[in-house]
Amino acid sequence: MLTDVHQRPLRNLRLSVTDRCNLRCSYCMPEEEYIWLQREDLLSFEELGTLVDVFMGLGVEKLRLTGGEPLLRRDLPDLVAALAAREGLREIALTTNGLRLAEAGPALLAAGLGRLTVSLDTLRPERFKVLTRRDDLQSVLAGLRAVAHSPRLKLNAVALRGVNEDELGDLVRFGREIGAEVRFIEYMDVGGANRWTPDSVVCRDRILELVGAQLGPIEALEADDPAPAGRYRLADGTVFGIVASVSAPFCSSCDRSRLTADGQWFRCLYALEGTDLRGPLRGGASRAELEALVTAGWTARADRGAEERKALARRDGSLTAEAGRDDPHLQMHTRGG
Ligand code: SAM
Ligand code: SF4
Ligand code: SF4
Repeated sequence: MLTDVHQRPLRNLRLSVTDRCNLRCSYCMPEEEYIWLQREDLLSFEELGTLVDVFMGLGVEKLRLTGGEPLLRRDLPDLVAALAAREGLREIALTTNGLRLAEAGPALLAAGLGRLTVSLDTLRPERFKVLTRRDDLQSVLAGLRAVAHSPRLKLNAVALRGVNEDELGDLVRFGREIGAEVRFIEYMDVGGANRWTPDSVVCRDRILELVGAQLGPIEALEADDPAPAGRYRLADGTVFGIVASVSAPFCSSCDRSRLTADGQWFRCLYALEGTDLRGPLRGGASRAELEALVTAGWTARADRGAEERKALARRDGSLTAEAGRDDPHLQMHTRGG
């Protein structure tokens, strides 16, 4: 098995299929303008498939499609079907903001998508409008109705100080109604989050306190795998999770890496440099040559971005607006969350 410097296996690959997005969440894309990836640089589905085969040959068994907003990529169900046909993949997941889910959700599930995560930070239309700079909570809710109670449906909610702290319990309740486990994510100082401050984070203990105040006693569940979310249960059996990426980073067991839509491979959310796989792929590199590139990158991987950030004495966003403007690959919406 291929492992990195800290003995972490290469198991999980996030494929960003586009850097474009139809929302402008304040914690991800706060600027008015962005530089976009060149259209001709985007990997075709066939090229993506070739790279997925290389990664699978080296140990990857879980894929997550992300973006930007992945449902903006045309014919996405075709990609899901092509990936689902591969033997040896344990899981194909997708993270979406849900705006286009009503049209696309059923086709994606039918194509073989095994896990669907929808990002939803608020149930209040006015708040949604301020947070995402688009007035369209209705479309997300319609999308969720279209996929409600499908297996392994999850809701991701970033907990933000002074923004949605008062509705964390409501989100758990809403998740229960539509058959989705809610996962709260601590607000990270990553990529486009250049307005991040330590005070804006609602950390795990506070999330538990807030949910408990609304919904009653909470029991912590034993972890059954090295998944980053700690899981908790309410007295009525409802389970929710917390990804404490800021207060309790999980770098020591991190088996994830990320491929941008234009074929740059990053081995940490905070990494400043990636490996160009598109150039060699389009230049005619053989499968063995591509495998050698990935092997070299993974065996040299020493990244522990979130732990290193936590150890800093003073901390603000990891990327300035200027640096993010100069290099779109440093943005969260290019790398995928
Ligand atoms: N557009 C899709 C969506 O929002 O679900 C997929 C891409 S988005 C970058 C993936 C995930 O990253 C979302 O759940 C989003 O909430 C999360 N995310 C983005 N910026 C974040 C930040 N600064 N801190 C924590 N989570 C963040
Ligand atoms: Fe929001 Fe996702 Fe778009 Fe970022 S990529 S702005 S998190 S919807
Ligand atoms: Fe993995 Fe980097 Fe995130 Fe740590 S900061 S969990 S090493 S991606």
